[in-house]
Amino acid sequence: MSSPLISARGLCKSYGDLEVLRNIDVDINRGDVISIIGPSGCGKSTFTRCLNFLDPPTSGEVWFDGKKVDGDPKSLQALRRKMGMVFQSFNLFSNMTIVENAMLGPVNLLGMGRQEAYDLSMDLLETVGLGHKPLAYPDELSGGQKQRAAIARTLAMGPEAIIFDEPTSALDPTMVGEVLGVMMALAEKGTTMLIVTHEMNFAKNVSNRVFYMDEKGIYEDGSPEQIFGDPVRPRTRDFIFHVKTFSYEIRPGSFDFYEMLGQAGAFLRRQLFDDARIQRVFHVLDEAVNHSVLEAGDGVRTLLGLRYTERTDELEVSFTDVSGSAAYPYEGMDELARRVIDGYTKSVDASAGSLVIQM
Ligand code: ADP
Ligand code: MG
Repeated sequence: MSSPLISARGLCKSYGDLEVLRNIDVDINRGDVISIIGPSGCGKSTFTRCLNFLDPPTSGEVWFDGKKVDGDPKSLQALRRKMGMVFQSFNLFSNMTIVENAMLGPVNLLGMGRQEAYDLSMDLLETVGLGHKPLAYPDELSGGQKQRAAIARTLAMGPEAIIFDEPTSALDPTMVGEVLGVMMALAEKGTTMLIVTHEMNFAKNVSNRVFYMDEKGIYEDGSPEQIFGDPVRPRTRDFIFHVKTFSYEIRPGSFDFYEMLGQAGAFLRRQLFDDARIQRVFHVLDEAVNHSVLEAGDGVRTLLGLRYTERTDELEVSFTDVSGSAAYPYEGMDELARRVIDGYTKSVDASAGSLVIQM
């Protein structure tokens, strides 16, 4: 096994008081095609910018091709040449044709002759399916064509790895496919790629690894089969299975039953529950709250939790004692209330201080 192409060791990044990345350790091998997924704002863009020092890490190390990256401007320029970047917003020069856009880097940064740079750029425009439009200006192209021109420009620098940061997010849906098609061809050629993306099918089909980012780091790193089919860690599971949650604290004394129903109902409607289904949930809440939770005693504060899993269309209703009294919310319930709950639900799991109902 050859040494990794890119490594991060203890990589941290903060903006002022805001800690975005904490202690990331990772190795990226030659030929890896890695999809980076995760909730918005979790630090995906920041991580990719730290890898090529577009935004230097606050602490920690980045290694590229066996050499530690330092802040020296000359070596940074070399690093960025080897680690190309494609952004959501193409970043083409609008006053130049697309072949001139592609030639710019090789001529100005690599010292390539104009003819050689032209021949290379024409070849690359051919590769991305724009061989027929070298003299078009960016404004004359569709979003998908612009992004393909931007990919050709990145390729013209002869990068050893390419980072794509949401390359299709700004595109009209009809143009996503043509850009993903070009990226797929690059992956098949063995190009090392890191792709921040929301295109889960593409991530599944094209990558050999998936990073799920959360909690300021790479929360789970696995094969696409594992991450999409059987994620191990709780936050990955919630993200992949589209779990939506709602909670409401019930305090005896200041408890407003209809406010709770109102908020729970609004949450369920957002998950596209119809009125009949919402009524069934309300019956269960009514029985559980009025015949159990509120009877647990004055000092007992209970958290109502709703967890809806879109993938399986299952709702979990839970009552958890958050005051530490470990009251038994189900055991003390009268027979009729229990029968109502059992009738509406798939399973009821009661233990000290908690009641979990699947429905
Ligand atoms: P993602 O790409 O996963 O959506 P980002 O990496 O863009 O997330 O952002 C992660 C967090 O860092 C966010 O809270 C964002 O507001 C913050 N952030 C990103 N760039 C800057 C910056 N230049 N200055 C201050 N905060 C930033
Ligand atoms: Mg981003």
